[in-house]
Amino acid sequence: MFIIYGTRTDLKTDAELQPIQCENCGHFAPQMLFRKIWRFTLFHIPTFGFCQKRGTMCKNCGKIHPLKKRQYKEIRRNIA
Ligand SMILES: [Zn+2]
Repeated sequence: MFIIYGTRTDLKTDAELQPIQCENCGHFAPQMLFRKIWRFTLFHIPTFGFCQKRGTMCKNCGKIHPLKKRQYKEIRRNIA
């Protein structure tokens, strides 16, 4: 009997933020608030998440600015 297991990465977009000037490309582009979640899979079925990274991403160039959990929660609270 074989057990097939592995990991999978999901990118969840939580909100679109106001356009700001990106440090990387210099354009006024909207920023995406996102979470990147690593999930353990069993027979290609995601079971549980074991790691999360949070950040904002420039929609123009894709540059990621990592956020700490507290910063992320503060931004989400301000949007709602
Ligand atoms: Zn950019």
